[in-house]
Amino acid sequence: MGIAENLSRLKTEIPHEVRIIAVSKTMPVSDILQAYHTGHREFGENKAQELAEKHGRLPSDIAWHMIGHLQTNKVKLIIPFVHLIQSIDSLKLFGVVEAEAAKAGRRIDCLLQVRIAREETKFGLTTDDAELVLKSYRSGAFPHTRIKGMMGMATFTDNMLQVRNEFSKLVASFSSLRLKYFSDEPSFRELSMGMSGDYKIALEEGSTMVRIGSLIFGERNYTP
Ligand SMILES: *Cc1c(COP(=O)(O)O)cnc(C)c1O
Repeated sequence: MGIAENLSRLKTEIPHEVRIIAVSKTMPVSDILQAYHTGHREFGENKAQELAEKHGRLPSDIAWHMIGHLQTNKVKLIIPFVHLIQSIDSLKLFGVVEAEAAKAGRRIDCLLQVRIAREETKFGLTTDDAELVLKSYRSGAFPHTRIKGMMGMATFTDNMLQVRNEFSKLVASFSSLRLKYFSDEPSFRELSMGMSGDYKIALEEGSTMVRIGSLIFGERNYTP
């Protein structure tokens, strides 16, 4: 199956109000163009350098999502064009995004990445950390950012009950933080969860945005 077919099959399966982020990490520009020519415009990458490079070589109406751990010294590479930074995983990173966005005269949309998986390798804020970030955000300390919701990655496992529990934990903390910090602010509404192996469960649990790589582009040669 080709990239265009994969994408159109997914689009028949996924409710149209859910955004599909085509995760193109490690894939060549020619593959991204195949998806682009079907009309798809939302792509995700997990490395700042690769994201900046691909942005430079592809049409400018692509909405680029940063979905991987972002080092503070790489923030400025993507600030001029990035559509949504999904991976705010520390207050320090959020501060650097604010500073670089101010310099660039942009307001940058962000999601808070919350750690829901058991694996130690996965980045993310604890719910308490997320709360600290939100307190400081709501006090007006980050005027060049806009927090639009949360992102989480479930444990990589065949145990779908565990995956469902992790997503449902994320939904619960999303709902309680929204109630507490955004009752007057409807823009906090995105819940980015679900990848190739678990997007169906994520949709059942209330995902608004899925990040899908291998089901669209095929298996990657390595998993970074
Ligand atoms: C690679 C990646 C994905 C997509 O993974 P697939 O299993 O290929 O769909 C989604 N989210 C993040 C954060 C990733 O790094």
